[in-house]
Amino acid sequence: MNDATIQEIQLKNTLEFAQQLDEQDELAHFRKKFHIPQHLGKDKIYFDGNSLGLQPIKTIDLINDELKAWAGKAGDAHFHAKWPWYSYHEIFPQQLSKLVGCLPEEVVVMNSLSVNLHLMLVSFYRPTSRRYKIICEYKAFPSDQYVFESQVKYNGYDPADAIVEVKPRAGEHSIHHEDIIQAIKEHGDSIALVMFSGVNYYTGQVFNMPAITEMAHKVGALAGFDLAHAVGNIELNMHGWKVDFACWCTYKYLNSGPGSVGGAYIHEKHASNKNLPRFAGWWGYDKRTRFEMKKGFDPMPTAEGWQLSNAPVLSMAAHKAALDIFEEAGLDRLIKKGQALSDFLIFILEKVNRNVDNNSIEIITPKKEKGCQVSFIVKNKGKELYDHLMDNGVAIGWREPAVIRATPVPLYNTFEEVFRFGQLIQAKLST
Ligand SMILES: *Cc1c(COP(=O)(O)O)cnc(C)c1O
Repeated sequence: MNDATIQEIQLKNTLEFAQQLDEQDELAHFRKKFHIPQHLGKDKIYFDGNSLGLQPIKTIDLINDELKAWAGKAGDAHFHAKWPWYSYHEIFPQQLSKLVGCLPEEVVVMNSLSVNLHLMLVSFYRPTSRRYKIICEYKAFPSDQYVFESQVKYNGYDPADAIVEVKPRAGEHSIHHEDIIQAIKEHGDSIALVMFSGVNYYTGQVFNMPAITEMAHKVGALAGFDLAHAVGNIELNMHGWKVDFACWCTYKYLNSGPGSVGGAYIHEKHASNKNLPRFAGWWGYDKRTRFEMKKGFDPMPTAEGWQLSNAPVLSMAAHKAALDIFEEAGLDRLIKKGQALSDFLIFILEKVNRNVDNNSIEIITPKKEKGCQVSFIVKNKGKELYDHLMDNGVAIGWREPAVIRATPVPLYNTFEEVFRFGQLIQAKLST
C-alpha cells in the first residue's frame, strides 16, 4: 500500500481494482516465501491462517539443519553447533519482544499454550477467601475455559461463583467495552484476575487491553491476556500497558507449524521476583549454575525462570524460520496491510449482501475493533455456502452454530483473493 489508507481510497468490487491494490502492495513478494496449498492444480484461497499459518519455504531447511546436527554431532550439538541447542531459545526474545511489545527479558518460548496458561495461573491466580474471582469473556476459547475452571477447582473454589463471564448484549455478538469495565468495577475487590483474549477467536473482536489492564489494577487485581489470535496480527504493547502476563501459540499468525512451541510474557516486576510461587523445572534454574545440579531451586530473574524443560529444538527451528520473515517484513507494515485486507473483505461482503438477498450475510466482527479476521453468519444457507467454498478451493473456518471465519493474512494473501472469494459467495447465494 502507498500512503493513502484503504479508508481514503474509493473501494471498488472489481477484479481490476483488486489487482491494482496488489500491484501497489510492497509486501506482495512475501507470498513467494510460503507453500500455498493446492486445489485441482491451482493455489487455494487460504483464509484459514488464524487457525494454522502456512509453511515458510525455509522451514524445511532449518529443521533439516538440526536433524543433521543431531545425526552428525549428537550430544555435542548442545554446545557446538551453529545454533547450540543448550541456548536455542535465546534466539527468540529479541524478535518476539517487538511483536509483543516488551523487554527481551520479559519473554520466553516454551511448552504449548494451554500448558503455559496453567503455569501462569499457578503464579498469577492466587485466590484468597476475599479475592478469588476471574473476570473473562463469554465464549473464551474452550481450552481457556477449562484452564480457568480447573484452576478454580484446584484452589478449592466453585467455578459457578468464581468465574464471571462478560457477555454480549441480547441479540449482539461482540462485547461492549464499557460492559467489561463495568463488570470489573462491580466485582471490585473480589477479583483476583482479569483475563481476556487479545482477539476473540470466534468473533475476531479486539479487546481494549490497556483500558482493561488499567481497570483491573485499579481494583487491585492482576491482568493477563491470551494472545493466540493477537500476536503477529495486531499491535501489542504488553510492557507499556503494564500487563502482568500473557501467553500465545505460534502456529496461527506466527506460521511456526502444527502444535509448535508456545510463548509467554511476564512483566519484569514479576519476572525478576524470584520468590514468586511457580511450578519449577531445571531449565528455569539460574543458567550460570544450572549444571552444578544443586538442591534447592534458584530461578532465573527473567521470564526464562518459568521454563521447565530443555528446548524442543525441532519446533523451535520452525519458529525461527517464521520469525525471520516477520523481521524482514516488519510488523507495522503487516498490520497496515492486514487492516486493508480485512477492510476490503468487509466492503466486498457488504456489496455481495446487497447484490443477493439483502441481509442474508451478517458480519459479526466489529469494524473498528478487528485484526485480519472477519467472521460472518449466512442466514439459512451457512453450512451449504461453507461446503461450496471448500469444494471450490477456499480454506476458511466454520464454527457452530453458523459462523464462517475468513482471514486474509498480510504475509501471503492478496486483494485479488478477497475479490474472488466475494464472487464465489455471490454466485452461490444467487442460486
Ligand atoms: C488456538 C488457541 C488455543 C490452543 O491451545 P493449544 O494449547 O495450543 O492447543 C488456546 N487458546 C486460544 C485462545 C486459542 O486461540
